[in-house]
Amino acid sequence: MTYQQVMTQECVVGIDIGGTKIAAGIVDRQGQVLASSRSPMVARGSSDDGLAAVELAIKSVLTQKTSSHEIQGIGICSPGPLDPKTGVVINPPNLPCWRNFPLAESIRNSYRVPVKVENDANAAALAEVKWGAARGYRNVFYLCIGTGIGTGIVFDGVIYHGRTGAAGEGGHMGIDVNGPPCPCGKRGCIEVLASGPAIARRARQKVEAGSPSKLADLACGNPAAITSEMVGAACTDGDPVARSVVSETLDLLAYWLGNIIDLLEPDVIVMGGGVSSMLAPYLDEMRQRWNGACVNPWPDKIPVLLARYGEDAGVAGAAALLA
Ligand SMILES: [Zn+2]
Repeated sequence: MTYQQVMTQECVVGIDIGGTKIAAGIVDRQGQVLASSRSPMVARGSSDDGLAAVELAIKSVLTQKTSSHEIQGIGICSPGPLDPKTGVVINPPNLPCWRNFPLAESIRNSYRVPVKVENDANAAALAEVKWGAARGYRNVFYLCIGTGIGTGIVFDGVIYHGRTGAAGEGGHMGIDVNGPPCPCGKRGCIEVLASGPAIARRARQKVEAGSPSKLADLACGNPAAITSEMVGAACTDGDPVARSVVSETLDLLAYWLGNIIDLLEPDVIVMGGGVSSMLAPYLDEMRQRWNGACVNPWPDKIPVLLARYGEDAGVAGAAALLA
């Protein structure tokens, strides 16, 4: 290692803005999160209050910067809709502080480094391509399954944005026109059918209907307290209600991913998010359900891999925009 390499390490700041919190990190060129911090987001004040909260998050993570870290840029994940080309945040429902707000330009004016803004699932997909489970694959479909289902599409190392940046909303792909309403305004989106809260809701309904299950004990007799994690644990223990909920979830996800395969035929599918670890033991079972769920004759050739990044997917994704 030369003297110069010892002196400086090129890094990027990654910022992940949520409705109530901001996660910030310093990320190196290999995708390692070297330092991180969390601070509150001020989503319901003025646009300047929102901006000040982001600047505070940047400042707080930069206090952990060592003299060898050379910051090359700032990447930001923000709730959408947003314009990734201009870095303008349009009108996110959970960030009423910003309406057509030039977030990238505002941060660039303060820090004088390149700044990019992207939606969280697109950015997390890019981090998996650059540094994670999708490294070496050309056409990648990423899904993040947690309180919602976010997705990102990356072709040849580039996020697929569509005409205006609004593409890649696979979580709001409907699979049942008569299905339950989704907060997005549509019906039967995969998000409202198979996300963490949907898994918990289905289990709760079965327990409330009187099906005997360990889930009642795990939730201390209060079915409203059942979570998707409890469903995973009870399923591992052979609980029939949890097993049927997992089985239904695998049916839904397989049917949806069958559509994705027919549309994109990706080289790999990467699954992240809090619910992915609960589903991890059943991925082969899900793949078997692709028989009859897609017209593609080779779905078995498409690997389904677990994401490298968990909680820090947004920070790593934001950093990947500039790395
Ligand atoms: Zn929806």
